[in-house]
Amino acid sequence: MANTYIQRSVTPALTNIIIAGPCSVESEAQILATAQALAEIPEVKMLRGGIWKPRTRPDAFEGSGEQGLVWLREAKLATGLPIATEVATPEHVELALKYEVDALWIGARTVVNPFSVQQLADALRGTDIPVFIKNPVSPDLNLWLGAFERFQKVGLTRLAAIHRGFAYYKETPYRNYPMWEIPIELTRRLNVPLITDVSHICGNRELLQSTAQKALDLATDGLMIECHINPDAALTDAKQQITPEELKQLLVSLTFRSKQSCNVERDLAGLRGEIDDIDSELLQLLARRMEVSAQIGEYKKRNNVTVVQMDRWKKILADHVATGEEMGLSPILINKVFEAIHQASIERQGRIMENEEDSH
Ligand code: PEP
Ligand code: MN
Repeated sequence: MANTYIQRSVTPALTNIIIAGPCSVESEAQILATAQALAEIPEVKMLRGGIWKPRTRPDAFEGSGEQGLVWLREAKLATGLPIATEVATPEHVELALKYEVDALWIGARTVVNPFSVQQLADALRGTDIPVFIKNPVSPDLNLWLGAFERFQKVGLTRLAAIHRGFAYYKETPYRNYPMWEIPIELTRRLNVPLITDVSHICGNRELLQSTAQKALDLATDGLMIECHINPDAALTDAKQQITPEELKQLLVSLTFRSKQSCNVERDLAGLRGEIDDIDSELLQLLARRMEVSAQIGEYKKRNNVTVVQMDRWKKILADHVATGEEMGLSPILINKVFEAIHQASIERQGRIMENEEDSH
């Protein structure tokens, strides 16, 4: 069927590629209206739409299945946009190929399971369809690399990585913490294009712009952004989806950079990201240490024990200096750091003794 939209390649180059579309294909009207609005945006090179949705809870909307593929293919025919969907089982692969899906992605919950990844790789042997491999939910670089190796071993050559952030042990403003250093390390080890799925990193609309710009500054090769014709009514991931019109504005606000100028920034950002993560862990640990120290202060007060226990402190410091030296850390640093920590601890316990505060 002819269409009046911008002509697009079914195999777009994976540089500065924008993949947009709803989290889930929900109905014929929803995917057609969304696709038609997206097709008006020249930067959009591919339409995404989830057909089988891996949901945390069993009673949530789990996708429209084969019927959704019928609608997704209609959207492709109507707009000329190549289509991409997530596959998690060999049956999904078979159906996606039957309905002429142009590219597949492997979801974060599937990449954690090497058995599933191997089954998908086996199902795709003999095809050379583009496969985008999302990072696993957990920040495990080897698991991500292993998934690439499984697809490479069955002869697939058109692989790309999708960075969608990682589950993190503490609350952050993101739905999935970016940990930029992990995708950067992946692309240092493997020569594959990197697409940043800002929607699943952010989990909300507010952080999309800054996160997309950061990804572009770090030399991402493309962005995946969830778009829905009526985001508030979306059956999945409503909070993070934007309208095609909002996508248009977002794209205008972004600065796309040349790869060359990004490389230095990308190398540095990987290391800076690591430092930021470490500092944040240090802060958490310090706060926890102060909490425990306050509890000890309460105990000492109840039991009439003095705050400063000099013998114990001298032994602790000597142990830390020795352990630090084994780890290549200078005794001066260890002394300074632990003196400061100990001092703060004593002051806190002293205040508790004087009844000026309790441990809460
Ligand atoms: C999705 O792209 O809609 C999706 C479920 O992503 P992820 O596997 O990254 O959670
Ligand atoms: Mn989603």
